[in-house]
Amino acid sequence: MSIKNRPCPICKRPRQEDYTPFCSQRCKDRDLARWFGDGYAVPGERVDPEEIAARDWDGQE
Ligand SMILES: [Zn+2]
Repeated sequence: MSIKNRPCPICKRPRQEDYTPFCSQRCKDRDLARWFGDGYAVPGERVDPEEIAARDWDGQE
């Protein structure tokens, strides 16, 4: 199965090529907000499967 078939890590809807790996600018912004919000203060403490998935694609495309 192609990497392009993976869903948006934020809302699980099909991703849009323009916003890969997300489905929209909105989800892209949400992901950023999450990094600057929750995860920022305690790096390494929480392991969120969605964040791992989000990292997995980084640099591959
Ligand atoms: Zn989405």
